[in-house]
Amino acid sequence: MAAFETSARLELQDRAHGLSNRYEGQSAQEVLESAIRQDFAGKIGLVSSFGAESAVLLHMVAMIDPYVPVIFLDTWKHFPETIEYRDTLVAKLGLCNIQVVTPRPAGVAADDPDGDLSKTNPDLCCHVRKTLPMLAALRSLSCWITGRKRGQTADRDDLALFEAQDRWLKVNPLLDWGRDDIASYFKAHDLPEHPLKAQGYLSIGCAPCTRAVRPDEDPRAGRWADSEKSECGIHIVDGKIVRQGA
Ligand code: SF4
Repeated sequence: MAAFETSARLELQDRAHGLSNRYEGQSAQEVLESAIRQDFAGKIGLVSSFGAESAVLLHMVAMIDPYVPVIFLDTWKHFPETIEYRDTLVAKLGLCNIQVVTPRPAGVAADDPDGDLSKTNPDLCCHVRKTLPMLAALRSLSCWITGRKRGQTADRDDLALFEAQDRWLKVNPLLDWGRDDIASYFKAHDLPEHPLKAQGYLSIGCAPCTRAVRPDEDPRAGRWADSEKSECGIHIVDGKIVRQGA
């Protein structure tokens, strides 16, 4: 992607700051309602992993406008249970605009011919299988909704309600939600759980990079558990991707 102009980047950061201030103290639903119906009408989408907590935002968005695009990055490495759960939620919530985005076969063939790049260079694997397809899917949007929360990782402690990343704004309506808030919302709206949650999978990504966690572990301890990696790359600004041997 071409370098985003510095002045445009600063302008976007100012806008993110202004929106964060304007919506401070409002509920997640109020923030989403304003973002979907007013600030970014027709230009906003939800990027969802259909993981352990995803049903909350999917339900909120469906209640506001089921035609809001929901982007699912199908890396071809998901657990079959995630695909099954995606289909269950889409049907239950009446979501009408699911966009299943896949990697470019030529890109996968070039960078991951044996399918085991996640073991040797997970940053590049995420770049090919998630980031590049996502950037293409976001082309017609100006803002995307994420389920990130403060406290999930050290990098997320100072998360703001609105953030600028590349040429997009991101909104994090659940930034202050904890596990009890999530559990209460599931119960109040009779939302089905991800089938793997009962087996100890509390944060669920691709199968090769996710394991179940013990009760005393952080929910995200099961993601890229054998490496320093904590983010898949879609939330990294100007992230550097290193190819083998580079
Ligand atoms: S989470 Fe793992 S398998 Fe999925 S794209 Fe990233 S490195 Fe590859």
